[in-house]
Amino acid sequence: MQILNTKDEVIQAISESNLQPKNSLTSTNYGNHVTFQCSCNETHTVNDISNQVFAIAMPVKFCFICKNQHVSFVQVKGFFSQKANTIWSCKADLFNEALDQLGM
Ligand SMILES: [Zn+2]
Repeated sequence: MQILNTKDEVIQAISESNLQPKNSLTSTNYGNHVTFQCSCNETHTVNDISNQVFAIAMPVKFCFICKNQHVSFVQVKGFFSQKANTIWSCKADLFNEALDQLGM
């Protein structure tokens, strides 16, 4: 997991992540063993409904905002045995500043 600490790092991560709005097929209905690390120092389950899905990316990537106001960009891998891996994570207010600067 890469922890992003500056707005410039977040802007670069967003621009490399091909984020798209979530859609009607977006599902976080995975088993409880599918967990990801977050920069808030907790491990969350992908199916935790207290996470908001901010955006998605192909193939199976989710941009979550957790209850502690941290953003994690998470990839779920595997068909029969799924595992989630956090690609990057940062504080939600830093993420918002980056979105503002990107005009998103
Ligand atoms: Zn978190």
